[in-house]
Amino acid sequence: MGQASDSGAVGHDAASDSGAVGHDAASDSGHPAASEGDTLVTAGVARLLAMLDAGDVSAEDVVTAHLSRIAEYDGDVNAFLTVLADQALDHARDIDRRRVRGEPLGALAGVPVAVKDVLCTRGEATTCGSRILEGHRPPYDATVVTRLRDADAVMLGKTNCDEFAMGSSTENSAYAVTRNPWDLGRVPGGSSGGSSAAVAAHFAPLAIGTDTGGSIRQPAALCGVVGMKPTYGRVSRYGLIAFASSLDQAGPFGRGVADTAYAYAAISGHDPMDSTSIPEPVPDVREGLDSGVDRLRVGVVVEALGGGVETGVAARVREAAELLGKLGAKIVEVSLPHAKYGIAAYYLIAPSEASSNLARYDGVRYGLRVDGDTAEQMMAATRSTGFGDEVIRRIMIGTYALSAGYYDAYYVSAQRVRTLIIRDYREAFADCDVVLSPTSPSTAFAVGAKADDPLAMYLNDVFTVPASLAGLPALSLPAGLDERGLPVGVQLVAPLLGEAVLFQAANALEAEVGFDPVPRGGNAVHPPDTAHANA
Ligand code: GLN
Repeated sequence: MGQASDSGAVGHDAASDSGAVGHDAASDSGHPAASEGDTLVTAGVARLLAMLDAGDVSAEDVVTAHLSRIAEYDGDVNAFLTVLADQALDHARDIDRRRVRGEPLGALAGVPVAVKDVLCTRGEATTCGSRILEGHRPPYDATVVTRLRDADAVMLGKTNCDEFAMGSSTENSAYAVTRNPWDLGRVPGGSSGGSSAAVAAHFAPLAIGTDTGGSIRQPAALCGVVGMKPTYGRVSRYGLIAFASSLDQAGPFGRGVADTAYAYAAISGHDPMDSTSIPEPVPDVREGLDSGVDRLRVGVVVEALGGGVETGVAARVREAAELLGKLGAKIVEVSLPHAKYGIAAYYLIAPSEASSNLARYDGVRYGLRVDGDTAEQMMAATRSTGFGDEVIRRIMIGTYALSAGYYDAYYVSAQRVRTLIIRDYREAFADCDVVLSPTSPSTAFAVGAKADDPLAMYLNDVFTVPASLAGLPALSLPAGLDERGLPVGVQLVAPLLGEAVLFQAANALEAEVGFDPVPRGGNAVHPPDTAHANA
């Protein structure tokens, strides 16, 4: 995260602003002063761990700095549905006590993390952005949450998302519209828009999202952060509330590739509680991060830079390919001839699985209940009140696609297309080690621009869905800005279990791109002071 020092001049102004307005309360109460707090919110994971390890700061300082920034600016962004301030501070103080006593600490001890509200947290509201789960407090933690806690990462709260992770803008949440930290009039992408916005706004250095068809990678692209979807089965789905079970996968966000790798290392690995979890050890992706790309072949997807892609996006992707070539990678062209059918196949398979998974919300077992004269009326009233329009649309499409007489025409055809896409990638990976494309055809769009046009919304995922259908690991990283000053993401896709090469290629490209992850621009969230970030 060496870019932060570039922006010293801008950051200095920001510091004097925030010193005058906002942070007085923090210094009165013995909390870090503004610039000190800003150092803590801009530091990457490695630096935070080094400062904590050296005793320069306490976990309580780190958590307090992030909670203060959330308290001050999340009213503008709406990244969080729930902030677990007391719980986070208790955990931080416990880490500090254990450190003083020389007791063993987890690998992320004291590093804050924000978690998408589709992951179960014991005793704490878990809504999936839906009214139907209002008041639901799961009796257990998702494995991802348990692993973060075992690593002593400090959970700051639960982030907003499209209802049941269905959407590409976070506008389908029943509770709030999350704003893009780069331009508060625009969407952060979705469905994990709360998590990507939390990281971009410097509310947390790390966040966890889930990706069924692009919901980590697309919001990462639109918010100028790194987002990674692991190989299907690499990260446990235990406690991840199901949308489309053959596609759902949790993964990390960070403001840099190395940070994201820390979170991936913490959450990945076999879990006997998830029958689709891969029973293989996970290589430490951090070991090969600096291996460079000079022995790698990068396949540029020929179909992905044609029509329908914004010129600013296409330009940054071409530059990324050139930069990788300059670094010594061999650039080849690859074709994914069936990827263009990915969206059509995904929007049969995902709704089919969703229609089955969402049958459990019946007014009896979880959350909301709207009474009626009969059990059936109660269920109908609960479901039509509790589910939003997009969820109802998907339940109807999925029920139709699975019904007798249509099953072969729709669901089975879609599964056949899925197989063809898997084969396309297999052939592509005969010629290359990673595949490069845009993450999303556009940069962040205005709030409301696509809200009434489901098909336009679905097309956001045209480049992310194919890797989801094939179960492949994929990562989006910032490749610069478009002509409006909005972040552009490029996507790298690797073969099954190829996370190490994915991080390796992304890390090399990131260093060459030199992207500054602090949102700038007239309508951006108030930036942290980066003047002291590398002091
Ligand atoms: N935008 C896609 C959808 O609406 C993908 C969502 C996701 O990955 N969870 O289904």
